[in-house]
Amino acid sequence: MDEQALSHEDIAESDLVTRRGTFRAVAFRDRLHGHEHMALVFGKTRMRENVLVRVHSECMTGDIFGAMRCECGEQLDAALDRIVSEGSGVLVYLRGHEGRGIGLVAKVRTHVLQDEKGLDTLDSATTLGLPVDTRDYGPAARVLTYLRVQSVRLMSNNPDKIRALESHGIAVAARVPLLVPANDHNVGYLTAKRDRLGHDLPQLDLFSGDYPHAAGG
Ligand SMILES: [Zn+2]
Repeated sequence: MDEQALSHEDIAESDLVTRRGTFRAVAFRDRLHGHEHMALVFGKTRMRENVLVRVHSECMTGDIFGAMRCECGEQLDAALDRIVSEGSGVLVYLRGHEGRGIGLVAKVRTHVLQDEKGLDTLDSATTLGLPVDTRDYGPAARVLTYLRVQSVRLMSNNPDKIRALESHGIAVAARVPLLVPANDHNVGYLTAKRDRLGHDLPQLDLFSGDYPHAAGG
């Protein structure tokens, strides 16, 4: 465990009324990397066990602009919908995670290699001399600790994310799949995540589009 507790100087919170309902919006600053993140808290989660949690990596193209080459935006929507329909939960939105941590400009460079050379999401990064995944989940662990969440049901398809949170002292009671249907635009990306990063993506078995022509994000 390497957690320094979040300091009150680095946190501000208020109610946030959204189309889905009213969340508690907890903005916090990570002194280690300088990023500012946000936890959206819905319902009662303090001192609770088995809290439904999504730890979401920022993806401007997917989350804001609805890009279809990855499934980030759809996962964000589905996670918030599920938290509201269950009546409680936390979504932690982590900045500085573009392209699994390489940054936005580098991510778009990988898109060029994917579109022009047919490389997948991993090879397009390593061809540019960039790492495949540098994401730090420490800030998510620190805010979940601050919120006094006792254990989490993590909405994720990525076993590594569970191991990372556990290594930062978070008790993960269960993993809840967060599956987005495959389509011609995201199937290359999803397939690379399944076959090369070990994500659990059973919905790919049902897909019958024109892959392998799609490259992915
Ligand atoms: Zn994305």
